[in-house]
Amino acid sequence: MRITNVRERSVPISRYADPAIPSGGLTTSMVAVVTDAVREGKPVVGYGFASVGRFAQGGLIRERFAPRLLDTADGALADDEGTNLDPFRAWAVMMAGEKPGGHGERCVAVGALDMAIWDAAAKIAGLPLHRFLARRLGREATIDNRVRVYAAGGYVYPQNDIALLSEEVRRFTELGFTHAKIKIGSAGLMQDQKRVEAAAAQLPGGGAHLAVDAIYAYDAETGLAAASMLAPFGLWWFEDICDPLDFETQANVAAAYHGPIAAGEALFSLAEAKLLDWHGGLRRERDILEFDPVHCYGVPGFVQIVDYLTAKGWPRQAFWPHGGHLFCLHLVAALGLGGAEVNPFGFQPLCGLADGAEVMAGYTGLPQAPGIGFELRSEAEREFRMLMADG
Ligand code: MG
Repeated sequence: MRITNVRERSVPISRYADPAIPSGGLTTSMVAVVTDAVREGKPVVGYGFASVGRFAQGGLIRERFAPRLLDTADGALADDEGTNLDPFRAWAVMMAGEKPGGHGERCVAVGALDMAIWDAAAKIAGLPLHRFLARRLGREATIDNRVRVYAAGGYVYPQNDIALLSEEVRRFTELGFTHAKIKIGSAGLMQDQKRVEAAAAQLPGGGAHLAVDAIYAYDAETGLAAASMLAPFGLWWFEDICDPLDFETQANVAAAYHGPIAAGEALFSLAEAKLLDWHGGLRRERDILEFDPVHCYGVPGFVQIVDYLTAKGWPRQAFWPHGGHLFCLHLVAALGLGGAEVNPFGFQPLCGLADGAEVMAGYTGLPQAPGIGFELRSEAEREFRMLMADG
């Protein structure tokens, strides 16, 4: 059992359904991991990608982590039976020689490859990823066949912002979503107040079904001002308030803001998760943890964080992983977490649900194809096929 080839390419990715709207030049790394396992006459290939909303890690993947996977001794990546990849062993091979600290971008490079390795291993096993992962973690008995989801988007439009935002949130509800998340923090408090009012007006549940994400915009003073503006809306949650490592500001806002707050998306390791828990002022009974599996070294790193924090008293329902794609949907089901973000319109074609997948009253089912099921998203499959066709 070997990985015989790793394909990687940096691709542009847009926050908006219309990629012509400037989106900050975002890129991500798409990867394909080719194995020597054969199904239906073809080598099994796993697909993955890096963060959405940041930038690609092609150099780290090409120069450091893909060579480690390719240069292993025969069988070093295999499970005990030698019939499948063991993604945890593959992760240990990728991390060999890496020192603690310095998470930065390498965690996302490893996370992208890890996603593809889980996809390949679940395909080799002939199971959808949630079943394969739950079996691997001994959680099959608690697996749920549906997952709570919310629609994320609501980035500021350069023109006609309020009308376009309202239309976007209205379309979320047409798709069956009951909860949504929009962005604030870049347009000034008065405009943000209008955005929150407009988005809440489109949701049958109003502000209680709306989360806002400030993308780390605030400092000690502006964070408190934003909290005062937001408090009367009774929002679902208030996310990414300040710099992800500014625990003092976050704790001060948490002390002043009664509603739920969400954090963790831009923390990249168990070590940083511990700091958030110790110093971030979070409240176990109401706050939200949005660690992104791809941001924190893939499944092995993410499971470390979930295991540590749940052992410290955090409920599994507090975890709503960032990402907005099928990989996180499987992880939420397998690990019994609160729910998953979905990007129905942004970050295409990689994010979103399978083609034709339905959202009913805020829940969706799980892809049943072997692996993650990117093949069930025709536009995503086309991109991955192009990656395989390139040199
Ligand atoms: Mg966020």
